[in-house]
Amino acid sequence: MLEVRPTCENCNKSLPYNSEDAMICTFECTYCKDCVELLKQVCPNCGGGFEKRPIRPTHLLEKYPVSKTIVHKPIDIKAHIKKLNS
Ligand SMILES: [Zn+2]
Ligand SMILES: [Zn+2]
Repeated sequence: MLEVRPTCENCNKSLPYNSEDAMICTFECTYCKDCVELLKQVCPNCGGGFEKRPIRPTHLLEKYPVSKTIVHKPIDIKAHIKKLNS
């Protein structure tokens, strides 16, 4: 089951369970659409790609609550791009 993390790891923007802007990698590193664009669609933690995070249906939230744990690790975008191009 997905954790459904509450924020973007890079900019800390709020990404609620029903957000259309939440993107995740295979390890569920979570970023907003804008940051995924800046990261050139490559996860800075694992090097994998991103997909849109599925929306958890509201009626399941009581039984399957979403994560409240904030992961905030701002990325050095310039260094990330440099690494991609090297
Ligand atoms: Zn972001
Ligand atoms: Zn990742």
